[in-house]
Amino acid sequence: MQKIFFTPGPTQLYPSIKGYMREAVKDDICSISHRSSDFEQIFENAVSSLKQLLNIPENFHIFFLSSGTEAMERIIENCAAKYSYHFVNGAFSKRFFTVAQALKKMPEKIEFGEEGFNSEKINIPREAELICFTHNETSIGMSLNTEDIYKIKENNADKIAAVDIVSSAPYVDIDYSKIDCSFFSVQKGFGLPAGLGVLIANEKCIEKSVSLQKQGCSIGSYHSFASLLNNADKKQTPETPNVLAIYLLGKISDELNKKGIKKIRKETEEKAELIYDFFDNHASYKPFISNKCFRSKTVAAINVTDSKKIIEALSENGFVIGSGHKEMKDTHIRIANFPMHKKEDMKRMLELVK
Ligand SMILES: *Cc1c(COP(=O)(O)O)cnc(C)c1O
Repeated sequence: MQKIFFTPGPTQLYPSIKGYMREAVKDDICSISHRSSDFEQIFENAVSSLKQLLNIPENFHIFFLSSGTEAMERIIENCAAKYSYHFVNGAFSKRFFTVAQALKKMPEKIEFGEEGFNSEKINIPREAELICFTHNETSIGMSLNTEDIYKIKENNADKIAAVDIVSSAPYVDIDYSKIDCSFFSVQKGFGLPAGLGVLIANEKCIEKSVSLQKQGCSIGSYHSFASLLNNADKKQTPETPNVLAIYLLGKISDELNKKGIKKIRKETEEKAELIYDFFDNHASYKPFISNKCFRSKTVAAINVTDSKKIIEALSENGFVIGSGHKEMKDTHIRIANFPMHKKEDMKRMLELVK
């Protein structure tokens, strides 16, 4: 039986991926030199199509990395000599913080839950150079309000604001004039095979990286911002990249652009409503996040008594859903709601949960 994956990532591939992969093999995409003009065209198409899709201003740079986690490490290395500040409400935002610790920085954090935080009153230490947000905390299905992120950046204009949008892109509508960098990996909302991270960064990030290098800080080697930029200016990458993934990202972005981002966002919201309505009205399974302002539109975490039983029963019927994250493995299920997930399939899956 062909299964449908509602897992938070890797997840269901876009149906068109098969065709694009066949095309890639036929056109020798996986054999061409990454210094050739054929590659430069693939690079250029992925960058321009993605910029159109996510409304990224011309003056932002797009860098290709290997994963979302790598993006965290590159941002810490290139944007903070010592002090980063982290908004932590789950496993992925915590990972951003521990990456900074591992790199021997001196990160600080605010931990919060459903009570949230007051963006006007939050006191970020004066020495902080970088503020790290996780827009969509995948481990618990909780989203931040982008307006809170913008407000904090506005009140701390001298600092760099970095936003993890790994499990909310392309749904989340970021105003790039109000943040400095963001990043995602492609195996979630973009419905692609894993193995590519995308970092979106403005000139302020580049300048910071240059100044850190001048001070004698390590900003990394081949994936330092300087090295990435130097190559991106030539529509290339420092190393031999995942050419197939960059090619597929361009193709999928073209496809989503044709469909229109407005429609994609509207469909995502409709499907999210379907999920939350269903569980708000369920006798025993309830959304883990009760505050509707913080409920993630793209990954719903649901409190259950025995996740294994539900997961197994759905799997026998062709639907794969996620378990809870780590310590919530048995007490949560997680349902991803990405653009490739069809409303009809979502309805059929929920009907079975009943
Ligand atoms: C999955 C995820 C990551 C990690 O991305 P990788 O590509 O697996 O390294 C980081 N942040 C969030 C919010 C995620 O959901």
